[in-house]
Amino acid sequence: MNKCLICFERVEETISNNFVCKRCLSKFEVIEKRVILDGVEVFILYKYNDFFKEILYRYKGCYDEELKNAFLNNFLMKLSYKYRNRKIVCAPSYYKDDITRGFNHVKEIAKLFKFEIIDCLNKCKNYKQSEQKYIERNKIENIIKIDKTKLKGVKRILILDDVTTSLSTLKTIIRLLPTNIDVKALVLASNCRFMENENV
Ligand SMILES: [Zn+2]
Repeated sequence: MNKCLICFERVEETISNNFVCKRCLSKFEVIEKRVILDGVEVFILYKYNDFFKEILYRYKGCYDEELKNAFLNNFLMKLSYKYRNRKIVCAPSYYKDDITRGFNHVKEIAKLFKFEIIDCLNKCKNYKQSEQKYIERNKIENIIKIDKTKLKGVKRILILDDVTTSLSTLKTIIRLLPTNIDVKALVLASNCRFMENENV
């Protein structure tokens, strides 16, 4: 008998997703929003609501690693097909945070795709989106570094990120990647501030 990773209630076996119960699944606000950022398609799965914020905090901040299975849910197959033949580049976190946590939260979700993951990005400072008002946006470019030698021969990439509020990190990553690579991006959740306009 499976228990829901989020509320620990029993998960009925008739449900295709065995990790999250129907009630918790319904708390994800699916938006499936597509925005074009510097010519790159960014696909946003959910709205960054209080529920998402809470489970992300449990996963990322309280080190509940099993929750990696609670985010993609029934979208995993569909997205695996959509992004087939791509290699994944994860939006980086500060390496010391990963050491403290014992895992990289975005990478653990990326592994569910069974695609090759390329570790070509490094974040050299502890920098949080919420502190953005204190830091000029263009400084993110000095914080994320790329090792292009790891991208030799790579033709198609999927950038994966957990949450985006301003798209500035994604924008930086897109600009760092060589222009001859076909890039798409998948973001698990976002707030809707910038979503009114399809072309950002
Ligand atoms: Zn549940």
